[in-house]
Amino acid sequence: MELWDSPPFAAEIRDGRIYARGVADNKGNLSARLAAVHAYTAVRGGLPLNVKFVIEGEEEIGSLHLREFVDAHRELVQADGCIWEFGYKNADGSLQASFGVKGMCYVELVCRGANTEMHSSHAAVIENPAWRLIWALNTLKTPDERIHIKGFYDKVASLSETDIEALRQMAYDEESTLEKFGLDSFVLGLSGLPLKEKLIYQPTCTVCGFQSGYTGQGKKTVLPSEARVKLDFRLVPDQDPFEIFRLLRRHLDEHGFADIEAIPYTMTYPARTPLDNALARSVVRTAKQIYGTEPTLKPMSPATGPMYILCQRIGIPAVSVGVGHFASNNHAPNENIAVDDYIQGIKHIAAIIEDFAIQE
Ligand SMILES: [Zn+2]
Repeated sequence: MELWDSPPFAAEIRDGRIYARGVADNKGNLSARLAAVHAYTAVRGGLPLNVKFVIEGEEEIGSLHLREFVDAHRELVQADGCIWEFGYKNADGSLQASFGVKGMCYVELVCRGANTEMHSSHAAVIENPAWRLIWALNTLKTPDERIHIKGFYDKVASLSETDIEALRQMAYDEESTLEKFGLDSFVLGLSGLPLKEKLIYQPTCTVCGFQSGYTGQGKKTVLPSEARVKLDFRLVPDQDPFEIFRLLRRHLDEHGFADIEAIPYTMTYPARTPLDNALARSVVRTAKQIYGTEPTLKPMSPATGPMYILCQRIGIPAVSVGVGHFASNNHAPNENIAVDDYIQGIKHIAAIIEDFAIQE
């Protein structure tokens, strides 16, 4: 909270930007689309096609009920195309359109030791769950970024010529990204095509947080009774999050860590829409009209969302475009969008409605 320059829910406008919690991810997009429908109806007297809004309030906690909802309301949800909930401008100001999302297998590992924390002099004879969990983690991934769970990569789809060509054309401003985060290099010193390939088409294994023993100010000599780590695996087509969880469980068992509990949280399938479909063509054609430049196409977003459940699983192509920008700071202090981007985003959605109706 103290890292915000204005109250997160005040939606303050400063220097042409709206600062608010969720303004880029994703209230700005939602309200821009409502505004587009409103404006279109006001000017043309009605919509040329049906527009349905699916507003999912549980996305950030893994969309636990969305599948059930889609299955129960299949006809209500069915559509010729979907404009997904997020979208951004690149660092150079061009619009980015993306055509899929990575999946997710989010797991917490819990390693338990003695039934109480104790004086660390006992560590000479009593096993420390923090070390055990570190050793277990050490078997999962090596510094070369390779994940060592047996079968983990088996379902990773190989790349076609089109996929590689899409990567080549995809904008990714390495310098601005490094500068924004105060870094000198990317992992493994990657750049160019291999960097983009890793970002878009490679799965990850990430330690999101590790907790054990005393982590407050100063020192306290304690032998922890428990250690916990939150891990997320971002998955790519055609990896299956439930299968990855089973493989992780087997991996731990086979490496002598059967005692470590694995608690599954979010299980999201990766999703992809081919770059060539009627909706994609509409989005690109209208983007040129509204933004004045060619949008950059991103074959998949490295982020995750329940796109597979809502779209690909029932044959709906999905394209992501929206009102955020490269430095929108989603999930972080001073999240913001530019007022001009917001207005352009409204116009873009209205133009897509008009164009897609004619195409269909
Ligand atoms: Zn989010």
